[in-house]
Amino acid sequence: MDNCIFCKIVKGEIPAKIAFDGKRVIGFYDINPQAPVHILLIPKEHIPTILELKDKELKDEIFSAITEIGKEEKLKNGFRLVVNIGRDSGCEVLHLHFHILSGRRLDWPPG
Ligand code: AMP
Ligand code: ZN
Repeated sequence: MDNCIFCKIVKGEIPAKIAFDGKRVIGFYDINPQAPVHILLIPKEHIPTILELKDKELKDEIFSAITEIGKEEKLKNGFRLVVNIGRDSGCEVLHLHFHILSGRRLDWPPG
């Protein structure tokens, strides 16, 4: 999608620090990290939110990637997986993304 910032990262038009590169998914570090480790895992194709994610193979790849990243040394003390959907969640970027947050104690419940 032309004016989507995450599609531009996928195409290499905007720089990002890549954390994971799969067949149909990519993970990169959040530009405004909310924890010492803050990775955004996204499908390479433009899908607005999880509500439009229908492709079973892509679902499998997304969760396999999250599992793989989640086993990395830097996440050894645990992590939080966050998906924001819709206005009340504060979601800003309309390209499906999974926040993977780690490296510090995270408050629960979230604010
Ligand atoms: P959300 O509020 O769930 O839509 O989260 C969007 C996330 O994208 C925020 O945490 C932003 O800091 C992050 N973000 C926005 N632009 C970029 C970028 N160019 N590179 C990396 N992360 C970004
Ligand atoms: Zn996009």
